[in-house]
Amino acid sequence: MYIIMPISEAAKIRLPALPPPRVTYHRLRKSIHFACFLGFLALPFFDWMRFDIPRQRFYFAGYELWINEFAIIFFALMFLMFLIIGSSIAYGRVYCGYMCPQMIFSEASITFENRLRRWIGKRWFDWPAARRNLAVRAVFLAVLAPVSVFLAFAFISYFVAPRDLLQRLLALDMHTAGGVAGAAVTLITFLDFTLLRQRFCTTVCPYGYLQGILGDHNTLLVHYRDEGRQCVACKKCVRVCHMGIDIRQSPFQIECVHCGECIDACVDVLGRMGKKGLIHYTWGEQGGEAGAHEPWLRRLGLRDAKRVIVLLLLACYGCGLFVALSMRRAVLVQISPERASLYRIDSSQVFNKFRFSIANRGGQRSAVIFSLDQLQAASLAIPENPVAVEAGKTVQGEFEISRPLATAAQEVEHFRILASPVTGGSPDTFPMTFLSPPQRSSQ
Ligand code: SF4
Ligand code: SF4
Repeated sequence: MYIIMPISEAAKIRLPALPPPRVTYHRLRKSIHFACFLGFLALPFFDWMRFDIPRQRFYFAGYELWINEFAIIFFALMFLMFLIIGSSIAYGRVYCGYMCPQMIFSEASITFENRLRRWIGKRWFDWPAARRNLAVRAVFLAVLAPVSVFLAFAFISYFVAPRDLLQRLLALDMHTAGGVAGAAVTLITFLDFTLLRQRFCTTVCPYGYLQGILGDHNTLLVHYRDEGRQCVACKKCVRVCHMGIDIRQSPFQIECVHCGECIDACVDVLGRMGKKGLIHYTWGEQGGEAGAHEPWLRRLGLRDAKRVIVLLLLACYGCGLFVALSMRRAVLVQISPERASLYRIDSSQVFNKFRFSIANRGGQRSAVIFSLDQLQAASLAIPENPVAVEAGKTVQGEFEISRPLATAAQEVEHFRILASPVTGGSPDTFPMTFLSPPQRSSQ
C-alpha cells in the first residue's frame, strides 16, 4: 500500500542534498557489467569457451576438446546447465540484470545516446530541436555501426576461431555461408541496439519465461513492502526502471530483471527524510530481506533441500569435469589388430598386422615411439618410428610385428605394445595377442 499524493504536493517536497550512499546497486551493477564485458570478449579469444563449428572442436577452460571426447563435453555441458538452473532457482533473474551481454550493451547504448543528446544540446543549444535530434541520431548510428561489427565479431568468435574470422572480415567475405552469417549477425546486432534493446528481454529471450518455471517461494526477488504507508508516491522508482515498470504493482512482473535500480531510487528519496527504503531484495514474497542477519548458508541462498540437491549435483558434475580434464591426454593413440588374415608367413618369419591412429589434440607438434614388451625375438616393421603428428591432426597407418617361426611356441601369445610420447611422460600400453600357425605346437 502507498499514499497517493497530488503531483503538485509531491513537487513541493524539498529533499535535502545528502551525499549518495557509498555502495549502491547501480554502482555494483556497473562494475559487474564492466567485468562481464571483459569476460565476454576474453572467453573466446583465450579459448576458454568456444564451440568451434568449422573445426568441430569445443574449447573449454583452455582445453581443445575433440568432438569425440564425449565424457568431457558431457560433464562441461551438464555443469553449465546446472549452473544456470541453480543460479536461477536461488537468485532469480539476477543474471539478466547483472551479467547478460544483451542487457549490458542495451544499457550502454542508451547511456551513450543520452550523453550524446546532452552534449549536443549544450554545444549547439541555439539549433532548432529537430536539427539537434537529427544530429544526435546521425552521430549515434555512425558510432554504433562499427561497434556492431565489433560486437558481432566477438559473438561469432564463440563459434569460429577469431583468426579465421578476422581473415574473412578483412576479405569482406560475402560469398560463403560463414560470411553471410557474419553479415546477418552484424545487422541483427545493429538493429538490436538501435531499436530493440530491452524489449528483447520481454519478447524474444526465453530465459525470462524459463525463470517463471524455475522460481519458487525462496527465490530472490525485488519486493516493495510498505506496511507503514511511508511511500510518498514520488515515482522515482518507476522513472529509473529501464524496463518501464512499477515495482509497486507486483514483484512477479516478467519485465523485472532484479537489477535493484529502484531500490537505490527509493533509498535515495526516503533516506533524505531519515526513513528506510521500501524496496528490497527478499527471499521470496514472504521471506526476509536478503543480507539480513542469519546463518551464512541461508544468506548465500541455500534455503531448502532443493537448493542443496542442485548444489550437490553441480558439485558432482564439476568434480566429474575436473577428473575428466585431468585424465585427458593431448595425444590419443589407438591400436587394433588387423584380423582380415590372422597371420602371414614369409622366410621362416610369422607376421601379424596392426593398425594405429594417433590424434594430436594439443597445440604443439608431437611424435610417438612404438615399442614391444613381453614378446621374445619380435621386431616391429613400421615405415617411420617415431611417428610425427602435427597439432590438431590425426595420423593413421599400419605396422607389422614379426618373429621367427622357431620361437613361436604357442598359437596365441599375449604381449604389450607401448606408445611413448617423445616429449616424455608415461607410455600408453595396449595389451595384444600375437597369433602363430597351429602346427608349431605339434612339432
Ligand atoms: S522494477 Fe526495479 S529491479 Fe525490476 S527491472 Fe525495474 S528497476 Fe530493476
Ligand atoms: S521511490 Fe519509494 S517513495 Fe518513491 S514512489 Fe517509489 S516506492 Fe514510493
